[in-house]
Amino acid sequence: MLRIRLTSLLLLLCLSTAAVAGSTVENVRVWSENDKTRVVLDLSRSVQHNIFTLRSPDRVVIDLKDSRLAKSLTSMPAGTGTVKSIRSAVRADGQLRVVIDLNTAVRSRTFTAGPNAQYGDRLVIDLHRTGNAEPVKRASEAYRPGRDIVVAIDPGHGGHDPGAIGKNRTREKDVALAISRELAARINAEPGMKAILVRDSDVYVDHRARTNIARRGKADLFVSVHSDAVNDRRATGASVYALSLKGASDEAAKQLAERENASVGGVSLDGKDDVLASVLIDLSQNASLSASLEVGNDVIKEMDKVTKMHRRTVQQAGFLVLKSPDMPSILVETAFISNPSEEQKLRDKGHQGRLANAILAGIRNYFYTNPPPDTQIAMDLRRQPTRQVRHVITPGDTLSEIAARYNVSTADIRRANKLSSDKIRVGQTLSIPIFAGG
Ligand SMILES: [Zn+2]
Repeated sequence: MLRIRLTSLLLLLCLSTAAVAGSTVENVRVWSENDKTRVVLDLSRSVQHNIFTLRSPDRVVIDLKDSRLAKSLTSMPAGTGTVKSIRSAVRADGQLRVVIDLNTAVRSRTFTAGPNAQYGDRLVIDLHRTGNAEPVKRASEAYRPGRDIVVAIDPGHGGHDPGAIGKNRTREKDVALAISRELAARINAEPGMKAILVRDSDVYVDHRARTNIARRGKADLFVSVHSDAVNDRRATGASVYALSLKGASDEAAKQLAERENASVGGVSLDGKDDVLASVLIDLSQNASLSASLEVGNDVIKEMDKVTKMHRRTVQQAGFLVLKSPDMPSILVETAFISNPSEEQKLRDKGHQGRLANAILAGIRNYFYTNPPPDTQIAMDLRRQPTRQVRHVITPGDTLSEIAARYNVSTADIRRANKLSSDKIRVGQTLSIPIFAGG
């Protein structure tokens, strides 16, 4: 259920497979914002082209097959952003060469755009100032007004508290930290999302400090990462828990909560000092509990694709780390460390990465359906694409390369195609949403 409504439209094949004959360059437009300068060639029809960048002096060269300038185009725009001047010449082989002289080094990116209400076929060249080897931010990131969605990741246990220990001496605290780090790195690589690691070393953190760290970081979600253990070594599979103050959803969940709570050295909210606190929490818990259940379900759906699930519904238990009324919170038991074969998997870097991918995908699906309104992701979701281009995956394509080519984000493409991961396959057809400005 993604909130994207595509306004229409023309499905266009991308240029490389379409154009055959030549074209006329009817107009050249240039404008600039922040570190990006955009040059648009308005064409009578789409055309095959080559583009390359040259140094000393810095310039971008575009060769257009069998093309010419319109007679009406008597002068070229100049002196905008990184563009010093633009010149052109027809070469002996019939190619029209357009040279953009630059006042600085740039990274260039081109894409083609088909006709819309205002313009016909266009070749768009984006010039990003490279400056002092700093990674170039996309213009949309450079002035983004929305904030990042913050996810606090809480690796269970740590320090003197090893958590559960497997038959081969694997410690829960270590695998929880390894998976949490993988997850944090993936979240930080997502546009519009940011991770906080509650602990990033083998230290003990009190359960209240854990939620305080998340709260100080203004986290939108709290994810505690653990591995399960029972006496019966045959038990296998992952589970996702949400807080229940009303009591655990079954006896096993209750026992698990007792064990996890005891092992973080926490004081039960049922204790004398916490009676008032528990009443206060109860009053404000309902909203974030339903959010916790929803995000928990999204995570289960994705984990189910990469690992065995112990339970396919969100379990509820009274975990102390989850008693955080202002923040949706889930606890992921990634597997049973008490089962020797799952213990082995938990140590495997590849499996840790797959678990992190799945948890990320679940979190992302949740937030793209329920974005906090002041976030960049919410703002991006409100943008309407002006049109859509069809792109057929060829060998070697990656989602990020396709996104760069069309000057959109990978998130835009995932959303338009309801993809939950960046996996694509050759022959698959993607809809590429194109936003205003092309
Ligand atoms: Zn644990």
